[in-house]
Amino acid sequence: MTNSVVQVEKTLNPKMKPAFDQLSFGTVFTDHMFTMEYTEEQGWHDPKIVPYEPILLDPAAMVFHYGQTVFEGLKAYVTEDEEVLLFRPEENMKRLNRSNDRLCIPAFDEELALSGLRKLIQVDKDWIPNIEGTSLYIRPFIFATQPYLGVAPSKTYRFMIILSPVGAYYKEGINPVKIAVESEFVRAVTGGTGSAKTAGNYAGAMKAQEVAEAKGYSQVLWLDGKEHRYIEEVGAMNVFFKLNGEVVTPELNGSILEGITRKSVIELLQHWDIPITERKISMEELYEAYQSGKLEEAFGTGTAAVISPIGELYWNDKKITINNGEIGELAQRVYDTMTGIQTGRTEDPFGWRMTVDIDTAVAPSHN
Ligand SMILES: *Cc1c(COP(=O)(O)O)cnc(C)c1O
Repeated sequence: MTNSVVQVEKTLNPKMKPAFDQLSFGTVFTDHMFTMEYTEEQGWHDPKIVPYEPILLDPAAMVFHYGQTVFEGLKAYVTEDEEVLLFRPEENMKRLNRSNDRLCIPAFDEELALSGLRKLIQVDKDWIPNIEGTSLYIRPFIFATQPYLGVAPSKTYRFMIILSPVGAYYKEGINPVKIAVESEFVRAVTGGTGSAKTAGNYAGAMKAQEVAEAKGYSQVLWLDGKEHRYIEEVGAMNVFFKLNGEVVTPELNGSILEGITRKSVIELLQHWDIPITERKISMEELYEAYQSGKLEEAFGTGTAAVISPIGELYWNDKKITINNGEIGELAQRVYDTMTGIQTGRTEDPFGWRMTVDIDTAVAPSHN
């Protein structure tokens, strides 16, 4: 790896910081960003932190035409003791490389990317909001930059990380959402790109989302792309059900995105000795469980919300009300524990937290 030391060029024009009690999601960005380039000759090289600014790309850059791009999402929290915590960031870097592999993007050095991320957070540490529920959202992404209209993997790429202070996901308490079961559109199919975090999956999911919203539902429940029977995900989250005391989540089948929250919730439930099974689950089975009073809870899991309880499912003209439309006991316990670990309020028996050393002075680079 050529010059794998992350250089830092600090901004001369720091921006005004937003009021941390009025943040929304993904609209405000910090003063700096991480970038790294890939060429065939040099591999991934020139990792650096530079002032946040627009980027210049050739209109023929392949990302615009064939969608060769992948991304990640994670959060940093500042504790009451002013410690900065990341939640399992090495899992995000691993997954980014798995997404890369699926999209024919060359793998990067995960250690290097993590040290670049840590340095970026050190430089922009004053942007981490410290109000309950707020966090610094981290968006690593990689895209094809070669100017070429032939359909083939690009020969050049850029890896970037940007940071965005975000407000609390739940401003007025955790409200369960209404979900429409999607029987027409599919998000992903076996053999497709569903298990990679790539932009095209999101673009392809927007139509169903729009139709569901127009009918008063906040998200869709995705079914499998072949039989339209088996449950896969909810919106851009993984999904869990509690049926008669047993927790069930769809097994990873190649079209489901392997969430880090999902993985953590499974490990947490195992730690608590609550039965948790990864298996296929059909809408018919779920409906039967509902009719016989065995459907106790349903919730989505993902970085943004952590836990999103489902209060109602609409399927084939039938309304399935779950736990009277209120958050279930288990969902609440999982939410409290996960957010407690993430924010440093509770102990971390799993070693999931990574502390970012913010006392380390970042020396300016000499260009
Ligand atoms: C990112 C994502 C998730 C959740 O993953 P986390 O690592 O838990 O944030 C679930 N489903 C889809 C489709 C996703 O893109």
